[in-house]
Amino acid sequence: MVTVVRPEWVVIPGERGPIARSGLAVAFEDRSIIAVGERIPNGDVTIDAPGAVLLPGLINGHTHLGTSPLGRGVIEDVSYEGLPFYMAVSPITGLPYEPEFREELRVLMAADVAANIRSGTTCVVNQNAVDADWLLSLLTESGIRAYSGPILPSSPKARGTLGPDGRIVREAEAEETLRRELADAVALHERWDQGVQGRIHVLVGPASAETCPDDLLLEMARLNAAWGVPLTLHLAQSEHDVAQAQAMFGTSSTAHLADLGLLGPNLIAAHGSLLSDDDVRLLAEAGATIAHCATRKAREAVFSPFISYIERGLRVIIANDAFNTDLIQEIRSAAMFGKLALGSSARPSAADALAAATSEAAAALGAPDLGRIEVGARADLTLVDLSSPFAWPVFDPIASLVYYATGADVRSVWVDGAPLVHDGRLLTLDWPAIAAKARAAGDRLWAVAVERGRLRRR
Ligand SMILES: [Zn+2]
Repeated sequence: MVTVVRPEWVVIPGERGPIARSGLAVAFEDRSIIAVGERIPNGDVTIDAPGAVLLPGLINGHTHLGTSPLGRGVIEDVSYEGLPFYMAVSPITGLPYEPEFREELRVLMAADVAANIRSGTTCVVNQNAVDADWLLSLLTESGIRAYSGPILPSSPKARGTLGPDGRIVREAEAEETLRRELADAVALHERWDQGVQGRIHVLVGPASAETCPDDLLLEMARLNAAWGVPLTLHLAQSEHDVAQAQAMFGTSSTAHLADLGLLGPNLIAAHGSLLSDDDVRLLAEAGATIAHCATRKAREAVFSPFISYIERGLRVIIANDAFNTDLIQEIRSAAMFGKLALGSSARPSAADALAAATSEAAAALGAPDLGRIEVGARADLTLVDLSSPFAWPVFDPIASLVYYATGADVRSVWVDGAPLVHDGRLLTLDWPAIAAKARAAGDRLWAVAVERGRLRRR
């Protein structure tokens, strides 16, 4: 079956990044784009979309599906002083990981996947703590493309933290837990990898270099390389992380990973907000990637320089991490914070920021058939209406998209040529049913958190 989309503008690869062209149509059949041009006949299905721009499907380079819905309105204004992020928020976001709240966790995962797809994300790089089988079955059903698997160790207590005396505090059984969870991840990979015609990729990654013994880091890197998926972890995301790495390794986490031979094109490190110049150089020389989560870190008063890394040759891609799921807003924040980082209103451009969520992200995944609209590429596409009062009229569609649109303007989403959203409505997930359950899950979990003294009503 051939589908033809006739939007007002199509974003295609230009010599120096993505450019928008009017008067083009895009045809796709099965999983691939078969034509991009001015004179394309109607297909079996033809979609006219005046006022809309067709983009390569957006790629979310780092997330934890299930954590976002519960934390919204809860985690934004809390103090993380002296704690790594995951210890500070785990009293609340950790609740659904207790076995008695498994149904609630599943609903939150479904709500999170729905939010990603509905706002134009066609591919996620995900690390989640528990119930990986259930999530992979949900991802399969949802139609999204996913690089997904467990974060090790799953328990924040087993990850360890820096005590007041400068020593690392960690559960006694942490290492045993890690080894068991890694064996489970190998079995998970056997069950799920390459599902639905290769849309599902299973990975396994540490929470950060500080949370795993070196031999397990090396083993995870070996497994992910053999599986053809990135090694993904958190890197230098807070002052606490930097101090913890220094206490454990006598150097930065980046330098420690370099010593282990783990810096390379296969590495996607989330945040990297507090990298030294030497760290940036090591990562750039190795061809590694930083997943930049602009709003998440800004809420913690941590500044991520984004474009200054790119200007030093380090690849940076866009991600949400958690809580805000609208990737268009993350692209906008990355562009704005980038201007602040450089003190320049001219850089980064909207096109630079969009590339970081499309073609650059595809390169980081080693997937050259993603992140671009051209013949032979996968038909992963996002159609965004720009005719709202907030974006109209449109002189430069990429600027209008990045600076004035939101995920709510997404009209249609396709992955591998299959429609997941049509006219703003999710097709593969039952949003009204998920929404009702997510509300009940939120009410129950927040009430329990209040009861246990972990959360105060404002
Ligand atoms: Zn993260």
